[in-house]
Amino acid sequence: MTDSSAASAPLPLVRSARVHPPRHLADLTVEQRRELAVSLGEPAFRADQISRHYFARHLCADDAEAMTDLPVASRSGLVEALLPVLLTPVNVMSCDGGDTRKTLWRAFDGVLIESVLMRYPDRSTVCVSSQAGCGMGCPFCATGQGGLTRNLSTAEIVDQVVAAARTLVRGELAGGPTRLSNVVFMGMGEPLANYATVIAALRILSGPAPVGLGLSARSITVSTVGLVPAIRRLAGTGLPVTLAVSLHAPDDELRDRLVPVNRRWPVAEVLAAAWEYAEVTGRRVSIEYALIDDVNDQPERADALAGLLAGRLAHVNLIPLNPTRAVSWRASERGREREFVRRLRRRGIAATVRDTRGRDIAAACGQLAADGSDRSDSAAG
Ligand code: SAH
Ligand code: SF4
Repeated sequence: MTDSSAASAPLPLVRSARVHPPRHLADLTVEQRRELAVSLGEPAFRADQISRHYFARHLCADDAEAMTDLPVASRSGLVEALLPVLLTPVNVMSCDGGDTRKTLWRAFDGVLIESVLMRYPDRSTVCVSSQAGCGMGCPFCATGQGGLTRNLSTAEIVDQVVAAARTLVRGELAGGPTRLSNVVFMGMGEPLANYATVIAALRILSGPAPVGLGLSARSITVSTVGLVPAIRRLAGTGLPVTLAVSLHAPDDELRDRLVPVNRRWPVAEVLAAAWEYAEVTGRRVSIEYALIDDVNDQPERADALAGLLAGRLAHVNLIPLNPTRAVSWRASERGREREFVRRLRRRGIAATVRDTRGRDIAAACGQLAADGSDRSDSAAG
């Protein structure tokens, strides 16, 4: 479709989505990185060296002088070709006594995305974005409200994780240096709507250096709104990542409203794909359920949910609804929440209520909305 007003319209602030982020080693296979090094007149193994600097030491473009095994004359060329700057921090906010930290990043084309790093006594988790915005339109989610701007590249996803690992290893979060253990794709975007890119990112995150970061695939969680064909494809990759399915209602009537994509793939189909995933991978599926006061927290719905999950390899993750600007819905009252949990457990369904990490800085689930317009404190760096 042609837009006749386009010629006279002012230039958009965000450049065309057809312009790709700079090529980065995390977009390439080890072989492709080596070929690139050779095309620069360098020996192939230089690609492995620079990959190790990035994945094992978390060095970035600014740290070229620390890459002492690369000849001085080659460093800048290699760094420029394989390690361009992809994401620049615009704003960093902390809460929970310094255990939670949200970073607002600006990409090469000006789009803004967020990632959230959370430290717990036994693990450290980074919540990453897979898209700038999201096109799925769930009405209770701040990210969904702005629509989709663009897919992130593989390296833009990986770089959020490497940055988190760097922050932890360098002891920049409260509690001293530690390692990154978990990654959750629960930031901005629907990861399975950016399928090939996310799969490539999973391979890099779980591949040992120089391929990638060497995290255990089991400690990586991909959360989906329920794109059934993509869940099946994910099962077929053989990557034993944890699958989280955002259900939020046991019946199609309500789920059609809360998760509009349900009209395409209704509850029964989504769960069938989830059970197939559990069967193929042997992994317990996490069923995400945001408890919304007087919307989906009725005792009958707890019973209906229990009926759907009985005997399945599943765990229910109840998320007290996080406040967003667009809707007046609130989290369930504590009593209703407790009753919901009790009814699930009574039927033998494992259920836990997620903590409310990051709420104070709008960094909790569903609160990410990096359009910059809703915060006066974002240093426009
Ligand atoms: N698009 C994916 C992953 C990103 S959203 C998905 O929907 O699964 C991550 C999780 O946050 C999902 O379970 C989503 O349903 C939930 N969520 C979105 N908005 C929320 C809110 N306002 N309160 C609580 N959880 C929310
Ligand atoms: Fe997109 Fe997930 Fe938000 Fe729905 S809940 S709009 S799928 S990010």
